[in-house]
Amino acid sequence: MSRIFLASRNRKKIVEMERLLREFAPGIEVLGIDDVPAYDEPVEDQPTFEGNALLKARAGLEATGLPSLADDSGLCVEALNGMPGVLSARWSGTPQGSKEGQDDRNNELLLAQLEDVPDERRGAYFVCAVAFCHAGGEDVVEGRMTGHVIREQRGSGGFGYDSLFVADEHSAPGTEPELTSAELDPEEKDRISHRGRALREIAPRVADVLAAR
Ligand code: IMP
Repeated sequence: MSRIFLASRNRKKIVEMERLLREFAPGIEVLGIDDVPAYDEPVEDQPTFEGNALLKARAGLEATGLPSLADDSGLCVEALNGMPGVLSARWSGTPQGSKEGQDDRNNELLLAQLEDVPDERRGAYFVCAVAFCHAGGEDVVEGRMTGHVIREQRGSGGFGYDSLFVADEHSAPGTEPELTSAELDPEEKDRISHRGRALREIAPRVADVLAAR
């Protein structure tokens, strides 16, 4: 069986990645950080999503010797000049306590910052960079989901800023109510999300590299 490493502890992300990759490489097994003996997580100190994803995937290849994938993602708000961007996870400060608590603080801060911004200037997009490093080289792809930030949280699915974000696909004129990313089925979010798009783009490349081994 072909194995690859994904620099993540998030079991949901690992399963999602494996499901997607199996469409292109049946039998592939994705190992996460908790499945390998030694992977020191690098500090994500790069100014770009691509830079952080590459940092993690390179460290993965070095630590495990396996072809390695890593992703980095976040929300870019036009009225905030592209912020929170790479700072999305720690926008309201260093993460402490539960992930949900941190998400709430981040969302409250974002809402406060956008309080006086009119509807027509609330455009935003999620970005996900996925890096793939293997003995023969490295690739990075980027997926985006564009939309806008609403004025109060809605929906209980997803995570992060999902409850404040309405994708363009779900805000067609006359569509009432607009659905936030936290109100979408997981399959629909995968279909239009930055992460789904980036993963679908990198998956055939991963399958090619594994087939050539
Ligand atoms: P990570 O790259 O998975 O660590 O994500 C960084 C941060 O970006 C998360 O903590 C969220 O705040 C935000 N983020 C990334 N992707 C999403 C998403 O699909 N929905 C909502 N928030 C997201």
